[in-house]
Amino acid sequence: MRRVLLLIIDGLGDRPCPSLKWLTPLQAAEIPNMDLMAAKGILGMQYPIAPGVPPGSDSGHLSLFGYDLGREYPGRGVFEALSEGVEWGGVTFRANFATVEEDKGKFVVVDRRAGRIEEEDASLLASGLKELYLLDGKVKARFIHTLEHRGFLLLEGEGLSSSVTDVDPHEEGYYVLEPMPMDDNALRTAEAVKEFLKLSHDILREHEVNRRRIAEGKKPANFILLRGASSPVKLEPFSSRWGFKPAAVAAGPMYKGIARALGFEVFHPQGATGLPDSNFSAKVSKALDLLEEFDFVFVHMKGTDVASHNRDPKLKVKVLERIDAAIEPLTDPPEDLLVVLTGDHATPCSVGKHSGDPVPVLFYGRGLPKDDSSNFHELDAQVGGLGWFTGANMMQLILNYSDRALEYGLRPLPQVRAYVPSIGMLRPLLF
Ligand code: ZN
Ligand code: ZN
Repeated sequence: MRRVLLLIIDGLGDRPCPSLKWLTPLQAAEIPNMDLMAAKGILGMQYPIAPGVPPGSDSGHLSLFGYDLGREYPGRGVFEALSEGVEWGGVTFRANFATVEEDKGKFVVVDRRAGRIEEEDASLLASGLKELYLLDGKVKARFIHTLEHRGFLLLEGEGLSSSVTDVDPHEEGYYVLEPMPMDDNALRTAEAVKEFLKLSHDILREHEVNRRRIAEGKKPANFILLRGASSPVKLEPFSSRWGFKPAAVAAGPMYKGIARALGFEVFHPQGATGLPDSNFSAKVSKALDLLEEFDFVFVHMKGTDVASHNRDPKLKVKVLERIDAAIEPLTDPPEDLLVVLTGDHATPCSVGKHSGDPVPVLFYGRGLPKDDSSNFHELDAQVGGLGWFTGANMMQLILNYSDRALEYGLRPLPQVRAYVPSIGMLRPLLF
Protein backbone atom coordinates (compact mmCIF):
# COMPACT_ATOMS: atom_id res chain seq x y z
CA MET A 1 0.00 0.00 0.00
CA ARG A 2 1.16 3.49 -0.77
CA ARG A 3 0.86 6.74 1.08
CA VAL A 4 -0.66 9.63 -0.89
CA LEU A 5 0.33 13.25 -1.41
CA LEU A 6 -2.46 15.16 -3.16
CA LEU A 7 -1.40 18.60 -4.36
CA ILE A 8 -4.26 20.84 -5.43
CA ILE A 9 -3.17 23.90 -7.38
CA ASP A 10 -6.18 26.18 -7.21
CA GLY A 11 -7.70 27.23 -10.55
CA LEU A 12 -5.02 25.23 -12.40
CA GLY A 13 -6.77 24.67 -15.74
CA ASP A 14 -6.74 27.46 -18.30
CA ARG A 15 -7.27 28.42 -21.93
CA PRO A 16 -4.89 29.92 -24.53
CA CYS A 17 -3.94 33.49 -23.56
CA PRO A 18 -3.23 36.19 -26.18
CA SER A 19 -0.43 37.70 -24.07
CA LEU A 20 1.27 34.27 -23.92
CA LYS A 21 1.24 33.91 -27.72
CA TRP A 22 -1.93 31.82 -27.39
CA LEU A 23 -0.38 29.30 -25.04
CA THR A 24 -1.98 28.34 -21.75
CA PRO A 25 -0.08 29.38 -18.58
CA LEU A 26 0.93 25.73 -18.04
CA GLN A 27 2.32 25.60 -21.58
CA ALA A 28 4.13 28.91 -21.26
CA ALA A 29 5.65 28.22 -17.85
CA GLU A 30 9.13 26.74 -17.35
CA ILE A 31 8.16 23.82 -15.13
CA PRO A 32 10.87 21.17 -15.52
CA ASN A 33 9.82 19.22 -12.41
CA MET A 34 6.17 18.91 -13.38
CA ASP A 35 7.25 18.01 -16.91
CA LEU A 36 9.57 15.32 -15.62
CA MET A 37 6.77 13.82 -13.55
CA ALA A 38 4.44 14.03 -16.56
CA ALA A 39 6.99 12.21 -18.72
CA LYS A 40 7.46 9.45 -16.14
CA GLY A 41 3.86 9.38 -14.92
CA ILE A 42 0.37 9.25 -16.30
CA LEU A 43 -1.89 12.19 -17.21
CA GLY A 44 -5.58 12.75 -17.64
CA MET A 45 -8.32 15.36 -17.55
CA GLN A 46 -10.91 15.62 -14.81
CA TYR A 47 -14.11 17.59 -14.43
CA PRO A 48 -14.23 18.22 -10.65
CA ILE A 49 -18.05 18.19 -10.63
CA ALA A 50 -19.35 17.44 -14.15
CA PRO A 51 -18.56 18.57 -17.70
CA GLY A 52 -19.30 22.27 -18.07
CA VAL A 53 -20.17 22.89 -14.41
CA PRO A 54 -17.97 25.63 -12.88
CA PRO A 55 -17.10 24.48 -9.35
CA GLY A 56 -16.64 26.78 -6.42
CA SER A 57 -13.41 26.13 -4.60
CA ASP A 58 -15.39 24.49 -1.82
CA SER A 59 -17.62 22.30 -4.00
CA GLY A 60 -14.67 21.42 -6.26
CA HIS A 61 -12.63 20.15 -3.32
CA LEU A 62 -15.54 18.34 -1.70
CA SER A 63 -16.31 16.52 -4.95
CA LEU A 64 -12.66 15.53 -5.48
CA PHE A 65 -12.57 14.19 -1.90
CA GLY A 66 -15.40 11.85 -2.84
CA TYR A 67 -18.43 13.56 -1.30
CA ASP A 68 -21.77 13.66 -3.09
CA LEU A 69 -22.64 17.34 -3.56
CA GLY A 70 -26.32 16.52 -4.06
CA ARG A 71 -26.56 15.07 -0.55
CA GLU A 72 -23.59 16.38 1.33
CA TYR A 73 -22.89 19.98 0.32
CA PRO A 74 -23.57 22.21 3.31
CA GLY A 75 -22.89 25.59 1.64
CA ARG A 76 -19.73 27.62 1.69
CA GLY A 77 -20.42 29.62 4.86
CA VAL A 78 -20.04 26.49 6.94
CA PHE A 79 -16.49 25.96 5.73
CA GLU A 80 -15.50 29.57 6.33
CA ALA A 81 -16.87 29.41 9.85
CA LEU A 82 -15.07 26.16 10.56
CA SER A 83 -11.85 27.72 9.28
CA GLU A 84 -11.88 29.97 12.31
CA GLY A 85 -12.44 27.04 14.58
CA VAL A 86 -15.91 28.30 15.46
CA GLU A 87 -18.49 25.78 16.51
CA TRP A 88 -22.08 26.79 16.49
CA GLY A 89 -25.60 25.54 16.07
CA GLY A 90 -27.30 28.24 14.04
CA VAL A 91 -27.13 29.78 10.62
CA THR A 92 -24.09 31.22 8.93
CA PHE A 93 -23.73 33.65 6.02
CA ARG A 94 -20.77 34.60 3.92
CA ALA A 95 -20.19 38.30 4.31
CA ASN A 96 -18.40 41.18 2.57
CA PHE A 97 -17.56 44.63 3.78
CA ALA A 98 -19.10 46.83 1.08
CA THR A 99 -19.68 50.46 0.25
CA VAL A 100 -23.28 51.57 -0.25
CA GLU A 101 -24.93 54.90 -0.95
CA GLU A 102 -28.36 55.81 0.33
CA ASP A 103 -30.96 56.53 -2.30
CA LYS A 104 -34.38 57.51 -0.89
CA GLY A 105 -34.25 54.95 1.90
CA LYS A 106 -32.78 52.22 -0.29
CA PHE A 107 -29.11 51.30 -0.57
CA VAL A 108 -27.17 51.12 -3.82
CA VAL A 109 -24.04 48.95 -3.82
CA VAL A 110 -21.16 51.15 -4.97
CA ASP A 111 -18.34 48.69 -4.23
CA ARG A 112 -18.84 45.08 -3.14
CA ARG A 113 -15.36 45.05 -1.55
CA ALA A 114 -15.31 48.53 0.01
CA GLY A 115 -12.41 49.62 -2.21
CA ARG A 116 -10.54 46.38 -1.43
CA ILE A 117 -10.39 47.47 2.19
CA GLU A 118 -7.10 46.97 4.00
CA GLU A 119 -6.83 44.06 6.42
CA GLU A 120 -6.24 46.36 9.39
CA ASP A 121 -9.26 48.61 8.77
CA ALA A 122 -11.46 45.56 8.23
CA SER A 123 -10.49 43.97 11.50
CA LEU A 124 -10.94 47.23 13.43
CA LEU A 125 -14.43 47.61 11.98
CA ALA A 126 -15.22 43.97 12.66
CA SER A 127 -14.41 44.32 16.36
CA GLY A 128 -17.47 46.58 16.68
CA LEU A 129 -19.68 43.79 15.37
CA LYS A 130 -18.29 40.94 17.45
CA GLU A 131 -21.43 40.36 19.43
CA LEU A 132 -24.85 41.93 18.79
CA TYR A 133 -28.27 40.91 20.07
CA LEU A 134 -31.32 40.83 17.81
CA LEU A 135 -35.08 40.16 18.18
CA ASP A 136 -35.19 41.42 21.80
CA GLY A 137 -32.05 39.55 22.73
CA LYS A 138 -33.31 36.19 21.52
CA VAL A 139 -30.82 35.92 18.65
CA LYS A 140 -27.09 36.42 19.05
CA ALA A 141 -25.17 37.67 16.02
CA ARG A 142 -21.42 37.33 15.69
CA PHE A 143 -19.53 38.84 12.78
CA ILE A 144 -16.07 37.36 12.21
CA HIS A 145 -13.57 38.90 9.82
CA THR A 146 -11.39 36.44 7.86
CA LEU A 147 -9.31 37.92 5.01
CA GLU A 148 -9.36 41.31 3.29
CA HIS A 149 -13.00 42.35 2.78
CA ARG A 150 -14.36 38.91 3.66
CA GLY A 151 -15.88 37.43 6.76
CA PHE A 152 -18.93 35.61 7.95
CA LEU A 153 -21.93 36.14 10.17
CA LEU A 154 -23.21 33.60 12.65
CA LEU A 155 -26.75 33.77 14.01
CA GLU A 156 -27.53 31.68 17.06
CA GLY A 157 -30.85 31.27 18.80
CA GLU A 158 -34.11 29.37 18.74
CA GLY A 159 -36.02 28.69 15.54
CA LEU A 160 -33.51 29.83 12.93
CA SER A 161 -33.35 28.52 9.38
CA SER A 162 -31.01 28.93 6.42
CA SER A 163 -33.90 29.28 3.95
CA VAL A 164 -33.40 33.00 3.40
CA THR A 165 -32.41 34.76 0.20
CA ASP A 166 -29.21 36.75 -0.34
CA VAL A 167 -28.94 40.40 0.60
CA ASP A 168 -25.99 40.79 -1.77
CA PRO A 169 -27.17 41.62 -5.31
CA HIS A 170 -23.82 40.21 -6.57
CA GLU A 171 -23.37 43.23 -8.90
CA GLU A 172 -22.42 46.83 -8.29
CA GLY A 173 -24.94 49.54 -9.18
CA TYR A 174 -27.84 47.43 -7.87
CA TYR A 175 -29.91 47.84 -4.72
CA VAL A 176 -29.15 45.83 -1.59
CA LEU A 177 -31.88 43.19 -1.49
CA GLU A 178 -34.30 42.53 1.31
CA PRO A 179 -33.72 39.12 2.90
CA MET A 180 -36.79 37.02 2.10
CA PRO A 181 -37.86 33.84 3.88
CA MET A 182 -38.15 30.94 1.44
CA ASP A 183 -40.48 29.08 3.77
CA ASP A 184 -42.39 29.69 7.01
CA ASN A 185 -39.54 28.37 9.13
CA ALA A 186 -37.33 31.24 8.03
CA LEU A 187 -39.59 34.17 8.99
CA ARG A 188 -37.67 34.91 12.20
CA THR A 189 -34.32 34.53 10.47
CA ALA A 190 -35.27 37.06 7.79
CA GLU A 191 -36.37 39.48 10.54
CA ALA A 192 -33.13 38.94 12.44
CA VAL A 193 -31.05 39.52 9.30
CA LYS A 194 -32.90 42.75 8.59
CA GLU A 195 -32.27 43.96 12.11
CA PHE A 196 -28.59 43.02 11.86
CA LEU A 197 -28.21 44.94 8.59
CA LYS A 198 -29.68 48.09 10.11
CA LEU A 199 -27.75 47.81 13.37
CA SER A 200 -24.45 47.07 11.67
CA HIS A 201 -24.95 49.85 9.12
CA ASP A 202 -25.56 52.33 11.96
CA ILE A 203 -22.42 51.19 13.77
CA LEU A 204 -20.24 51.17 10.64
CA ARG A 205 -21.46 54.52 9.34
CA GLU A 206 -20.42 56.28 12.53
CA HIS A 207 -17.19 54.34 13.05
CA GLU A 208 -14.01 56.40 13.29
CA VAL A 209 -12.26 54.11 10.79
CA ASN A 210 -14.82 55.04 8.17
CA ARG A 211 -14.63 58.73 9.02
CA ARG A 212 -10.88 58.52 8.48
CA ARG A 213 -11.32 56.56 5.22
CA ILE A 214 -13.66 59.21 3.85
CA ALA A 215 -11.22 61.98 4.85
CA GLU A 216 -8.46 60.10 3.02
CA GLY A 217 -10.64 59.81 -0.10
CA LYS A 218 -11.19 56.07 0.40
CA LYS A 219 -14.48 54.26 0.18
CA PRO A 220 -16.11 53.65 3.57
CA ALA A 221 -16.95 50.06 4.52
CA ASN A 222 -20.44 51.01 5.64
CA PHE A 223 -22.42 47.84 4.94
CA ILE A 224 -22.21 44.08 5.43
CA LEU A 225 -23.46 42.23 2.35
CA LEU A 226 -24.66 38.73 3.17
CA ARG A 227 -25.08 35.71 0.96
CA GLY A 228 -25.07 31.91 1.01
CA ALA A 229 -27.00 31.19 4.22
CA SER A 230 -26.22 27.71 5.44
CA SER A 231 -26.57 25.43 8.42
CA PRO A 232 -23.93 23.00 9.55
CA VAL A 233 -24.29 19.38 8.52
CA LYS A 234 -22.18 16.64 9.91
CA LEU A 235 -20.08 15.16 7.12
CA GLU A 236 -18.75 11.63 7.33
CA PRO A 237 -15.05 11.86 8.21
CA PHE A 238 -12.66 11.30 5.34
CA SER A 239 -10.89 8.66 7.41
CA SER A 240 -13.93 6.41 7.75
CA ARG A 241 -15.01 6.93 4.17
CA TRP A 242 -11.67 6.18 2.55
CA GLY A 243 -9.55 4.49 5.16
CA PHE A 244 -6.78 7.06 5.29
CA LYS A 245 -5.38 9.01 8.20
CA PRO A 246 -5.48 12.47 6.60
CA ALA A 247 -3.64 15.75 7.14
CA ALA A 248 -3.91 19.06 5.28
CA VAL A 249 -1.35 21.78 4.62
CA ALA A 250 -3.17 24.99 3.74
CA ALA A 251 -3.20 28.71 4.44
CA GLY A 252 -6.48 29.96 2.94
CA PRO A 253 -9.25 30.04 5.57
CA MET A 254 -11.83 28.17 3.52
CA TYR A 255 -9.49 25.30 2.68
CA LYS A 256 -8.65 24.83 6.30
CA GLY A 257 -12.38 24.83 7.00
CA ILE A 258 -13.08 22.14 4.41
CA ALA A 259 -10.27 20.01 5.77
CA ARG A 260 -11.52 20.44 9.35
CA ALA A 261 -15.08 19.60 8.30
CA LEU A 262 -13.79 16.28 6.94
CA GLY A 263 -11.68 15.53 9.99
CA PHE A 264 -8.23 16.28 8.53
CA GLU A 265 -5.60 17.50 10.90
CA VAL A 266 -4.74 20.97 9.59
CA PHE A 267 -1.26 22.54 9.40
CA HIS A 268 -0.38 26.08 8.37
CA PRO A 269 3.39 26.40 7.84
CA GLN A 270 5.13 29.72 8.44
CA GLY A 271 5.27 31.93 5.38
CA ALA A 272 2.26 30.27 3.75
CA THR A 273 -0.13 33.10 2.90
CA GLY A 274 -2.71 31.77 0.46
CA LEU A 275 -1.43 34.37 -2.03
CA PRO A 276 0.95 34.33 -5.04
CA ASP A 277 3.91 35.17 -2.76
CA SER A 278 3.26 32.18 -0.50
CA ASN A 279 6.12 30.01 0.71
CA PHE A 280 5.37 26.93 -1.41
CA SER A 281 8.58 25.17 -0.38
CA ALA A 282 7.57 25.34 3.27
CA LYS A 283 4.31 23.63 2.38
CA VAL A 284 5.98 20.83 0.44
CA SER A 285 8.53 20.12 3.13
CA LYS A 286 5.80 20.19 5.80
CA ALA A 287 3.83 17.69 3.70
CA LEU A 288 6.81 15.38 3.40
CA ASP A 289 7.33 15.52 7.17
CA LEU A 290 3.67 14.78 7.79
CA LEU A 291 3.82 11.67 5.61
CA GLU A 292 5.80 10.08 8.42
CA GLU A 293 2.69 10.20 10.57
CA PHE A 294 -0.21 10.42 8.10
CA ASP A 295 -0.88 8.31 5.02
CA PHE A 296 -2.84 10.97 3.11
CA VAL A 297 -1.58 14.54 2.92
CA PHE A 298 -3.49 17.20 1.01
CA VAL A 299 -1.55 20.33 0.08
CA HIS A 300 -3.39 23.37 -1.17
CA MET A 301 -1.78 26.17 -3.19
CA LYS A 302 -3.91 29.21 -3.92
CA GLY A 303 -1.72 31.72 -5.81
CA THR A 304 -2.60 30.48 -9.30
CA ASP A 305 -6.30 31.15 -8.79
CA VAL A 306 -5.58 34.65 -7.46
CA ALA A 307 -3.57 35.42 -10.65
CA SER A 308 -6.40 34.07 -12.82
CA HIS A 309 -9.04 36.18 -11.07
CA ASN A 310 -6.80 39.20 -11.69
CA ARG A 311 -6.71 38.16 -15.37
CA ASP A 312 -2.94 38.13 -15.15
CA PRO A 313 -1.57 35.14 -17.13
CA LYS A 314 2.03 36.28 -16.68
CA LEU A 315 1.61 36.24 -12.91
CA LYS A 316 0.03 32.79 -13.16
CA VAL A 317 3.07 31.60 -15.12
CA LYS A 318 5.35 32.99 -12.38
CA VAL A 319 3.35 31.31 -9.63
CA LEU A 320 3.43 27.99 -11.51
CA GLU A 321 7.20 28.29 -11.87
CA ARG A 322 7.57 28.95 -8.13
CA ILE A 323 5.37 25.97 -7.33
CA ASP A 324 7.41 23.87 -9.74
CA ALA A 325 10.63 24.80 -7.99
CA ALA A 326 9.04 23.95 -4.63
CA ILE A 327 7.96 20.45 -5.67
CA GLU A 328 11.42 19.40 -6.80
CA PRO A 329 11.70 16.91 -3.88
CA LEU A 330 8.63 15.08 -5.21
CA THR A 331 10.36 14.14 -8.47
CA ASP A 332 12.33 11.51 -6.56
CA PRO A 333 9.63 10.14 -4.26
CA PRO A 334 9.91 7.39 -1.65
CA GLU A 335 9.04 3.99 -3.08
CA ASP A 336 5.63 3.84 -1.43
CA LEU A 337 4.40 7.33 -2.30
CA LEU A 338 1.71 8.18 -4.83
CA VAL A 339 1.87 11.84 -5.90
CA VAL A 340 -1.28 13.33 -7.41
CA LEU A 341 -1.20 16.80 -8.95
CA THR A 342 -4.37 18.56 -10.08
CA GLY A 343 -6.64 21.56 -9.51
CA ASP A 344 -10.08 22.10 -7.98
CA HIS A 345 -11.37 23.77 -11.18
CA ALA A 346 -10.15 25.79 -14.15
CA THR A 347 -9.95 29.56 -13.81
CA PRO A 348 -9.15 30.81 -17.32
CA CYS A 349 -7.28 34.13 -17.15
CA SER A 350 -9.26 35.37 -20.15
CA VAL A 351 -12.51 34.90 -18.22
CA GLY A 352 -11.32 35.94 -14.75
CA LYS A 353 -13.61 33.46 -13.02
CA HIS A 354 -14.10 29.73 -12.54
CA SER A 355 -15.22 27.78 -15.58
CA GLY A 356 -16.56 24.31 -16.33
CA ASP A 357 -13.43 23.38 -18.34
CA PRO A 358 -11.61 20.18 -17.43
CA VAL A 359 -8.45 20.27 -15.28
CA PRO A 360 -5.18 18.41 -15.97
CA VAL A 361 -4.34 15.65 -13.50
CA LEU A 362 -1.10 13.74 -12.99
CA PHE A 363 -0.49 10.49 -11.10
CA TYR A 364 3.14 9.80 -10.37
CA GLY A 365 5.06 7.23 -8.35
CA ARG A 366 7.66 4.50 -8.68
CA GLY A 367 6.37 1.53 -10.60
CA LEU A 368 3.10 3.19 -11.58
CA PRO A 369 1.90 3.23 -15.20
CA LYS A 370 3.18 5.84 -17.61
CA ASP A 371 1.84 7.15 -20.87
CA ASP A 372 3.16 8.90 -23.95
CA SER A 373 2.76 12.45 -22.69
CA SER A 374 5.89 14.38 -21.88
CA ASN A 375 4.71 17.74 -20.51
CA PHE A 376 2.32 18.84 -17.81
CA HIS A 377 -0.24 20.97 -19.62
CA GLU A 378 -3.77 20.84 -20.98
CA LEU A 379 -2.88 19.46 -24.43
CA ASP A 380 -0.84 16.51 -23.21
CA ALA A 381 -3.37 15.84 -20.47
CA GLN A 382 -6.16 15.63 -23.05
CA VAL A 383 -4.51 12.57 -24.62
CA GLY A 384 -3.13 11.16 -21.36
CA GLY A 385 -3.48 7.55 -20.30
CA LEU A 386 -5.90 8.20 -17.43
CA GLY A 387 -8.43 9.52 -19.92
CA TRP A 388 -11.19 11.85 -18.84
CA PHE A 389 -13.14 11.44 -15.62
CA THR A 390 -15.11 13.41 -13.04
CA GLY A 391 -14.36 14.32 -9.43
CA ALA A 392 -16.56 11.44 -8.29
CA ASN A 393 -13.96 9.01 -9.72
CA MET A 394 -10.95 10.68 -8.16
CA MET A 395 -10.78 8.93 -4.79
CA GLN A 396 -11.43 5.56 -6.39
CA LEU A 397 -8.48 6.15 -8.75
CA ILE A 398 -6.36 7.21 -5.78
CA LEU A 399 -7.33 4.03 -3.93
CA ASN A 400 -6.44 2.00 -7.00
CA TYR A 401 -3.02 3.53 -7.60
CA SER A 402 -2.19 3.43 -3.91
CA ASP A 403 -3.03 -0.29 -4.00
CA ARG A 404 -5.89 0.03 -1.53
CA ALA A 405 -8.94 -0.53 -3.73
CA LEU A 406 -11.07 -3.54 -2.93
CA GLU A 407 -12.26 -5.90 -5.61
CA TYR A 408 -15.73 -5.12 -6.92
CA GLY A 409 -18.38 -6.88 -4.90
CA LEU A 410 -16.44 -6.93 -1.66
CA ARG A 411 -18.01 -3.63 -0.65
CA PRO A 412 -20.99 -1.81 -2.12
CA LEU A 413 -20.10 0.54 -4.98
CA PRO A 414 -20.10 3.43 -5.71
CA GLN A 415 -19.81 4.53 -2.05
CA VAL A 416 -16.87 2.24 -1.48
CA ARG A 417 -16.01 1.81 2.16
CA ALA A 418 -12.40 1.06 1.50
CA TYR A 419 -11.36 1.05 5.13
CA VAL A 420 -8.36 -1.17 5.33
CA PRO A 421 -7.68 -2.32 8.89
CA SER A 422 -4.10 -2.25 10.01
CA ILE A 423 -2.57 -5.61 10.85
CA GLY A 424 -2.65 -4.82 14.55
CA MET A 425 -6.43 -4.54 14.44
CA LEU A 426 -7.02 -7.99 12.96
CA ARG A 427 -8.13 -10.63 15.44
CA PRO A 428 -8.91 -14.32 15.14
CA LEU A 429 -12.60 -15.11 14.90
CA LEU A 430 -13.83 -16.84 18.04
CA PHE A 431 -17.11 -18.73 18.41
ZN1 ZN B 1 -10.48 27.07 -6.27
ZN1 ZN C 1 -11.28 31.28 -7.49
